Amino acid sequence: MGSPVDVDLLTALRAAVGPDHVLVDRDVTESYRRDMMPLAPAGSPAAVVLPGTTEEVQDVVRACGAAGVPIVPRGAGSGLSGAANAVDGCVVLVLTRMDRIVEIDPDNRVAVVEPGVVNLDLRSAVEKHGLFYPPDPSSYDWCTIGGNLSTNAGGLCCVKYGVTTDSVLGLEVVLADGEVLRTGRRTVKGVAGYDLTRLFVGSEGTLGVITRATLALRPLPQAPATVVASFGSTGAAGAAVSRIVREGMVPSLLEIMDSVCVRAVERHLSTELGAGAGSAALVIGQSDLGGAAGLAEVERLEQVCLDAGAEFTHHTDDLAEGRLLLAARRAVLPALETLGSWLTDDVCVPRTRIAELIAGCAEIGEEVGLTVAVTGHAGDGNMHPTIVYDASREDEAEAARGAFDRILALGLRLGGTVTGEHGVGRIKQDWLATEIGPVGLRTHRVIKNALDPQGLFNPGSMFRG
Ligand SMILES: Cc1cc2nc3c(=O)[nH]c(=O)nc-3n(C[C@H](O)[C@H](O)[C@H](O)COP(=O)(O)OP(=O)(O)OC[C@H]3O[C@@H](n4cnc5c(N)ncnc54)[C@H](O)[C@@H]3O)c2cc1C
Repeated sequence: MGSPVDVDLLTALRAAVGPDHVLVDRDVTESYRRDMMPLAPAGSPAAVVLPGTTEEVQDVVRACGAAGVPIVPRGAGSGLSGAANAVDGCVVLVLTRMDRIVEIDPDNRVAVVEPGVVNLDLRSAVEKHGLFYPPDPSSYDWCTIGGNLSTNAGGLCCVKYGVTTDSVLGLEVVLADGEVLRTGRRTVKGVAGYDLTRLFVGSEGTLGVITRATLALRPLPQAPATVVASFGSTGAAGAAVSRIVREGMVPSLLEIMDSVCVRAVERHLSTELGAGAGSAALVIGQSDLGGAAGLAEVERLEQVCLDAGAEFTHHTDDLAEGRLLLAARRAVLPALETLGSWLTDDVCVPRTRIAELIAGCAEIGEEVGLTVAVTGHAGDGNMHPTIVYDASREDEAEAARGAFDRILALGLRLGGTVTGEHGVGRIKQDWLATEIGPVGLRTHRVIKNALDPQGLFNPGSMFRG
């Protein structure tokens, strides 16, 4: 259990951010213990601190450094790796009060934001200027830009627009000694010095606290046209995805759902997705080229799916219908939740190996006696096999954890990576070590020790000391 906060530290924290923004009531602080990954360990924070400015973050970091008390930075706590989970006696530093969109510069297509801005709020704000901030994790209506930066979050847009790092130009970061580091630039190009911006993107709160970000925007895409294709085998669905890639098509979205997801969503939404009883997988694609070009692109996607053996296809440029089809994809987790607790995994495999991953997950599910449903971002190979289990039963929780690890091993065997977007956190440290090997791990430790010699930030997360 976490120890009570040291009196001198408490005084310093209150002086730094004001007494109202230092929470020590155990009933309150316990709600900041963990993120959305049920199996990751979590300690009890001594205090939860909500700074309002970069200077306040500096003061908090200096106070914690002097007291030798670890800091766990936190956004909305929507993470799926335990990366924002508390360690005993730590200060959880919640950045949600720093939620100003400081600037939108339409002429240079740049936005400057504080870390606590909610992803959807930024997307909506730039849309008013005819601009687009692409990164769109499914949690976009509550996760923060600071969390997105720190996990290098992905989403449905990645097949065409990349992950968070592809939209970041520069950062402001409070380092472990309380100094402010400014990385990057606000120009389109720039190669001065090491790319420190990319070092901090995806560093999961282990190297410093991000207090401001300069983000690259794009012109707002056109309204999407949508295609859906149902396949009698996952092999045929996988072949369609491979062909789409090989033929040089870059849809704005390309998602896949296996039969378990399709059935769960149909039951949950009381609707038919048109997949038919024999459907083994559903592929949903979109084009944001607009007008005739958009329609032509989805028709081409449809033809490739038919050539690969699709048993049913349908395309539309009707916005409402497209939204409904996408809503089905977004409803996968809520639909699985009606069957039990869910534990979602995150592996990214070469796009030619997607079918093998889905088949392997079904086998793992059968062997451990649990349902494993697979959905994911087919266009970039990032799959989210999701294990459904009864969390109140210890044997099922153990079986779920076993399945989780076996899926990661399978992903690596297929030439993939143990995380495509959710991060390592406190659930995949050993898997990171396996994937990057001893030299990779040593290099990580050297960087960590150089920037945070006291081990102040998020100790024990991502890799062990
Ligand atoms: C239903 C659901 C769907 C999801 N879908 C997706 C998806 O499609 N794609 C995807 O990538 N993720 C997805 N996620 C995971 C999660 O939403 C993302 O990882 C998101 O980026 C986390 O943002 P957050 O604000 O909640 O950060 P938190 O969970 O609070 O923190 C995440 C990490 O960032 C660090 N951190 C936060 N703010 C800062 C800061 N200012 N400075 C330094 N470190 C900081 C924390 O220490 C932690 O390591 C999903 C989660 C849920 C629950």
